[in-house]
Amino acid sequence: MNSPPKCGSRSIPEIKTTTQQSLVKTPMSDPHTIDSELLQKLVYDALVWSSLHGLVVGDRNVQRSGSTPGVGLVHAPIALLPNSFPESHWNQACELAPIFNELVDRVSLDGKFLQDTLSRTKKVDAFTSRLLDIHSRMLQIGKKEDIRLGLHRSDYMLDENTNLLLQIELNTISCSFSGLSCLVSDLHRSLLSQYNKHLGVESGRIPTNNSASKFAEVLAKAWKEYNNPSAVVMVVVQPEERNMYDQHWLGTTLTEKYPFPLINTHNVRTIRKTLAEIDAHGKTLSDGTLVVDSETVAVIYFRAGYAPTDYPSESEWKARLLMEESSAIKCPSISYHLTGTKKVQQELAKPNVLERFLENKDDIAKLRACFAGLWSLDDSNAVKNAIEQPGGFVMKPQREGGGNNIYGDEVKETLVRLQKEGSEEEAAYILMQRIFPKVFPTLLVREGICYKEEAISELGVFSAYLRNNEKVIINDQCGYLMRTKVSSSNEGGVAAGFAVLDSLYLT
Ligand code: ADP
Ligand code: MG
Ligand code: MG
Repeated sequence: MNSPPKCGSRSIPEIKTTTQQSLVKTPMSDPHTIDSELLQKLVYDALVWSSLHGLVVGDRNVQRSGSTPGVGLVHAPIALLPNSFPESHWNQACELAPIFNELVDRVSLDGKFLQDTLSRTKKVDAFTSRLLDIHSRMLQIGKKEDIRLGLHRSDYMLDENTNLLLQIELNTISCSFSGLSCLVSDLHRSLLSQYNKHLGVESGRIPTNNSASKFAEVLAKAWKEYNNPSAVVMVVVQPEERNMYDQHWLGTTLTEKYPFPLINTHNVRTIRKTLAEIDAHGKTLSDGTLVVDSETVAVIYFRAGYAPTDYPSESEWKARLLMEESSAIKCPSISYHLTGTKKVQQELAKPNVLERFLENKDDIAKLRACFAGLWSLDDSNAVKNAIEQPGGFVMKPQREGGGNNIYGDEVKETLVRLQKEGSEEEAAYILMQRIFPKVFPTLLVREGICYKEEAISELGVFSAYLRNNEKVIINDQCGYLMRTKVSSSNEGGVAAGFAVLDSLYLT
């Protein structure tokens, strides 16, 4: 069998066929033309596979599905078959990962840049303001993070008109689906092999996706750097989480001793705590050691804490500060978190700003080539253009998790209102060029039902960065997440209910 191309190491191997000729780059054919008998079989097999392999989420129709594991599971929303994606753009996205990792690290060290960039936003956005307060406090006490860990995901869309791969955003906190997305690639590979004769496509064209094992491996390496065998990795979670299995995949990979393959045995214990629990049961010792429920915490892995709703009271903010002040390794630190804000993304896209952080001109050119148009709302020309042609823009506040952006006529209405009011609220937003990916026919499966849809895709590349002082231990891409959504939907979140998990079929 052909070894699939990898996304998870810096060098990207050539794809070879068994005959050593270059594979014919046949795109996936229109799945809407698959006859109904075959389609039924494919859906049935996909549903069985997902249930048996843990490609599952909590069912929104079952009340306890977000709090009690094993209760109310449903298969994750998926594309039935992978969708075509150009190999050259996929390679480009993989190549960008270590450069973005380095950029995040450099920017995070420039406290003044972060504070200055977000200073106007701070006045009008209470949530960003609280994050900045914690960051200021760390600057004041001269807090240094020697061991720095980033588990990021950079998201892209391929703009149809220009054929450019353009970055949507860079996520530095709580990047979801590293646990499940690798399973989707496995599922698609399994279906393509099984139905090879009927579908006429090659499962080897789905890139290897080791997202869960790679992230677990990096968390284990960070834990090792902390150098306390009895310490744990603490996953910070929301009290209710229907996407818990995505997270449990990482925790289990860290902890469980598999008989095979032995290489996966990290033997690192994990605990899961909400911010409120950390406030109630956590403390720091005089040397900065973080202890929660009498467990010493080596690594804090945030899968919560990115949204205002994660902080319903002062208790959650106290927990965030306690963790930041501690000597535990934070994934992410407050600086890494702020570096991932949309405002910082927009600032970095301004002329000569990347040059402040990176020396290598090739790297800078590569990053710049994937930047879409990004503007601050104090750019009157950009605002004027967006009012005239709102469909060409997206307005974004400093929020994560999907469902927060403004599109279409609402862009115009909001901009006109802000202009009239002359309010400072404009500093809460950035303006971004709207990207229009190619629309293609696809099959989306939700709650056991297959829908024929016209859709668009967004490619996310997971990446990890771990360093201890001057030593960079890991700087790598770690697999991918393909999300596909009906073309009429603006937003793309899977958890938010807009998109499904997909994988890519390289053409
Ligand atoms: P979040 O941090 O909430 O995920 P994003 O910037 O990723 O915010 O926006 C959410 C979704 O909105 C994306 O997944 C994508 O589907 C859509 N989107 C964001 N920016 C653009 C853009 N410039 N062009 C087209 N769609 C976009
Ligand atoms: Mg985001
Ligand atoms: Mg996003």
